[in-house]
Parts: sequence; C-alpha cells; structure tokens
Amino acid sequence: MSVIEAVSQHGDIESIGIGCCGSVGNDGLMQGANVTVLNGQDFIGDIQKQIDVPVAIANDADCLALSEYKDGAAKHATNSCVAVIIGTGCGAGVVINNGLVTGLNKLGGELGHNPLPNFNPDVDGKPHECYCGSMNCAESFVSGTGFARTFAEKHEPADSREIMALYHKGDARAVDHLDLYCDQLARTLGAIVNFVDPEVIVLGGGMSNVDEVYPLVQQKLSQYTFTKAVTTQVVKSVHGDSSGVRGAAFCTHFK
Ligand SMILES: [Zn+2]
Repeated sequence: MSVIEAVSQHGDIESIGIGCCGSVGNDGLMQGANVTVLNGQDFIGDIQKQIDVPVAIANDADCLALSEYKDGAAKHATNSCVAVIIGTGCGAGVVINNGLVTGLNKLGGELGHNPLPNFNPDVDGKPHECYCGSMNCAESFVSGTGFARTFAEKHEPADSREIMALYHKGDARAVDHLDLYCDQLARTLGAIVNFVDPEVIVLGGGMSNVDEVYPLVQQKLSQYTFTKAVTTQVVKSVHGDSSGVRGAAFCTHFK
C-alpha cells in the first residue's frame, strides 16, 4: 500500500513522517542522499501535492537514533546517544540533551563522508572515490557495500552474507577481512567518542546484524580514542529495521 492509499483509506491520520537517506537542505531540496536521484528534488513538495496532511522527512540515521534513544538500545542513556547505520551507506544520528542535532546545514551526523581515519593503502586497499566526490570516505569502507567492495578488490566478488559464510567456515581471507572491517569501524566510532562522547553508540543497518562485529569493535575502540580507557558501549539496535519507521513517526512530535 502506498502512502497516498493509506491516507485516503484512513482519514484520521494527522501527520506523516518519512525516514529517508540524506536530508532536506535549507533550500527545501534533498541533499546528501545515496539514492542520488533524490538530490536536488523537492521531495516533500512533490508528496504534499498528493496528500493534504502535514509531511515531515527525517534522515534515516536520525530516525534510528530517536527510536533507539526513546525506548530501544539507548533507553537507559540520560541525555545522549549516537546511532550509526552501517548498511548500503553509512550515516549517524546524534541525540544530545534529549534532542536531535540536525545542524545549521542539515549535515549533523554525516560522518560517513568524513575521510576514514588513518587511511593507509597498504592496509585499507586502493584509494576510493566516493559518489560524493571525496576520496576515501568512511562510508566506502564501513558500510555493507564497502565491506563487500573491499573484499572483492582483494579476493573475489562476494556479498556480505557470502563473506560471513566463508568466515564461519574458517576461511582465513574472510577472518582477516572482518578483522580489518572492525578496525575501520573502530576508527570511525573513535572519532565520535572524541567529538561527542555519547553514553551509548547504537549500530543499525545490515552489518549491525553481524554479531561478531561487537566484541571486535569494542576491543579495538580504545586504540582510537584520546583517553585509552573509554567505557562507551557499542550495541545493536533493539528495533532493527523497524527503527526507521518508528523514528519517522516520532520525528514530527519529538524535537
Ligand atoms: Zn562521500
């Protein structure tokens, strides 16, 4: 059922929240979406032409952060959490003092397009140009897409599931690759700890379902933080894929 059909069949809907990659920039147009066809489009305006109900769009990582902070993996946090999506892309949502940090340019949490910390071609593989135009964006390595891309570059084409199947058979290439991936993710999350120092870091997206990631990242995280004895917990989202729609629903009411 489409959103338009849902609204026409349920006349008591007061507002609609949509979780989406990228964000609505200050000019009202989409920006920073890895579904790049959206960028530069008046997405809300186009939907609003069809639906006579207020529509809000929130970044999918912001939705994850809200959902998990409100009653998920970060519900015990008193005022801060960062949620990081490691799926087809990589983005983060930041909650501080019980509110989302969307930012002046609507770029809050876009750490996926910071350079991968300590990038070293001897360790991380060939330099890679991101669709955003920058080189060696963290997303190019720590997203699920990046996990598969860098494996293919070194070995053979395989998706994330196939790599993990090799891992469970004890394939040394896959074991080493997951270790490298967790090191790259720990570098990326270490930058969050140094900058925001949230009470909890919640992971969502396809790679967050790889349980082997958590002990490895937790073990490596302190190597990349200013103070070496950090106790920040990196945890799996509770609401999983539902966090996107839950957060989108909250985004119209929870600022
Ligand atoms: Zn990028």
